[in-house]
Amino acid sequence: MLVDLKELLKKENNELHFSMEIPFENFDTKFGSYKIKQKSPLDLTLFHIRDGQVSVDANAKVVIEIPCDRCLSDVAVEFKIVISKQLDLEKETSAKEDSDETRFVTEQQELDLAELIKDELLLLWPSKVLCKEDCRGLCNVCGHNLNVSDCGCDRVVLDPRMAAIQDIFKNSGN
Ligand SMILES: [Zn+2]
Ligand SMILES: [Zn+2]
Repeated sequence: MLVDLKELLKKENNELHFSMEIPFENFDTKFGSYKIKQKSPLDLTLFHIRDGQVSVDANAKVVIEIPCDRCLSDVAVEFKIVISKQLDLEKETSAKEDSDETRFVTEQQELDLAELIKDELLLLWPSKVLCKEDCRGLCNVCGHNLNVSDCGCDRVVLDPRMAAIQDIFKNSGN
């Protein structure tokens, strides 16, 4: 998802507007890979202000399947991506520097839209995902989904000191 910026940079006040499909089906992160269930095309406007100053405005909507924190069933979470950035393509940057210019623009002066989208998704990523507010989660004994039905397991959590005493009784028979 690279957009060549060289044409845009030839003249000031140059503007490019286009719409493009988001080419990935999964969102891969350090903490897992998530299925993209729905996505709108990315609507992109690039504007060359002057002297390598480029404004980038982009919008898209994606729906990603994220497991519920309690019962692990898939929850469709909608993300409204709104990117609005100004990049300075004449700025002296070194590859080591962590700036927007080094992260989103290649050495061939191409804008990396996939990186921009991923960056935005991480910013929007919810800290908590629940299929419903009162999700009952999974049984900690047998793993049954308690939203579906009750499995009948004894889920009383023992006081750890009591559990230790029970172990002594269990082992004393040997
Ligand atoms: Zn749930
Ligand atoms: Zn159970």
